[in-house]
Amino acid sequence: MGHEPAEDSKVSSLESSGFATADRTGRNAVTEEGEKFDAIVVGAGPAGSAAAYVMAQSGMEVVLVERGDYPGAKNVWGGVLFREATASVFPEFWEDAPLERPVVDQRLWMLGEDSVVQAGFKTERFGKPPYNAFTALRGKLDSYFAKKAEDAGAYLLTETQVTELIFDRGKAVGVRTSRDDGDLYADVILMAEGVNCFAAVKSGLRADYRMENAALAVKEIISLPEQTINDRFNVPGDQGVTLLCIGEFGRGTMGSGFIYTNKDTLSVGFGAIVQHLSDTQVQPNDLLEEMKRHPAVQVLLNGGETKEYSAHLIPEMRFESLPRPYGAGYMLLGDTAGLVNFMFQEGANLAIMSGKFAGETAVEAKKRGDFSADSLSMYQRKLENSFVLKDLKSLRKMPGFFRSHRQFFGTYPRMLNRIAQEALTVDDQPKMSKGRDLLRVAREERGLSGLARDVLDGLRSLR
Ligand SMILES: Cc1cc2nc3c(=O)[nH]c(=O)nc-3n(C[C@H](O)[C@H](O)[C@H](O)COP(=O)(O)OP(=O)(O)OC[C@H]3O[C@@H](n4cnc5c(N)ncnc54)[C@H](O)[C@@H]3O)c2cc1C
Repeated sequence: MGHEPAEDSKVSSLESSGFATADRTGRNAVTEEGEKFDAIVVGAGPAGSAAAYVMAQSGMEVVLVERGDYPGAKNVWGGVLFREATASVFPEFWEDAPLERPVVDQRLWMLGEDSVVQAGFKTERFGKPPYNAFTALRGKLDSYFAKKAEDAGAYLLTETQVTELIFDRGKAVGVRTSRDDGDLYADVILMAEGVNCFAAVKSGLRADYRMENAALAVKEIISLPEQTINDRFNVPGDQGVTLLCIGEFGRGTMGSGFIYTNKDTLSVGFGAIVQHLSDTQVQPNDLLEEMKRHPAVQVLLNGGETKEYSAHLIPEMRFESLPRPYGAGYMLLGDTAGLVNFMFQEGANLAIMSGKFAGETAVEAKKRGDFSADSLSMYQRKLENSFVLKDLKSLRKMPGFFRSHRQFFGTYPRMLNRIAQEALTVDDQPKMSKGRDLLRVAREERGLSGLARDVLDGLRSLR
């Protein structure tokens, strides 16, 4: 069993009647003494659904447990879905996935008080198959991935929260859930709870996130007519734009704002390290409002109606403090394993890769009939041999560098705006004296030795 598509009636009967329910082979699916699944996946986000899909496709009997009413109901992101990692699990997903726009134009805005210095890259190539990245909304996207897992044969169990793991002689053998009589058993448990990984923490699989290793982001979905978005962002309806904003509005936090174009909405948000928000006594929603009031941003949002407002944590762990992602009978996936590349705003692609690797590891472990920690350590090796841990390792000093050099988020954007303003104002001042003025601005803002130190420190952080 587990190969052919799951029937809707099967899923709904599992959901509505507890777990001791007949599956399509006629036997009890879960809680009867001695019966268990091959694998339980906790959380139907990108990591969990990818893992469930990979295992179900290989014929494993998988239950995918989700606390929300439906996959994606509780999930928040920016969000940009990167094609390569996603396609490695769901080939050519862009043919039928609920995507918003392919991203062809990536812009960085350094905001001054009432001006902006811009950088960016645009290519039509990213607007054609196989694409590079897409904007997407989590409610629809997570449901799509979970449906793929269901179609491959996994059982999706919604409105069910896993509260902790069940251990037998040191090995994870099942999960306790919020339902009455709600214990589920399996050979292997894949924890893909996201950043709020209460069950993993309660079961001692990892330490909880703290203020210094998490960022807090707030996000709005603002609706605007499609044509207005096309006109304001200068793209046709089948192309999308991402806009990253840094500047003094971040009030000295290591934080940035974003505006992403969806079909007929904009995703607009701001996130910063929780510790910095606490130190500077600012709320991310106030900083987002300040960003939205900037004249260059305001013209993009004018007349828009806020449809949704949400807040969510983002892991920002040091490489050295990442938890060991496996143990006897369990693996940690995605945000639960701290797999986020904060510098490059990548999370869902790492989550999907971790789901793929954990799923493949479980399939191999099943073949060997060995779900010990030693057997599941293959998962760690797969992560290490891929861009997931290679990137996090090679960039491990960057988050620390930016934390201690927060001038990159406030002082430098202001300095560049002042320099641009002076340099581009055509007046009666001779050009050579203007050059001296520009040096004066740099000295006033950061000092030439400060500038040189920042460049050297930045280069050192890449070693
Ligand atoms: C504001 C913001 C912007 C972001 N922008 C981007 C972006 O543009 N691109 C990008 O790649 N990444 C982005 N990320 C990061 C990305 O969203 C995450 O890295 C990614 O969603 C992690 O996937 P996951 O499957 O590990 O966890 P999640 O997506 O958090 O999914 C976890 C799932 O588990 C469920 N769950 C949790 N606990 C339990 C439990 N005990 N029992 C049952 N179910 C449970 C949850 O309801 C949820 O469905 C952003 C994040 C935020 C907050």
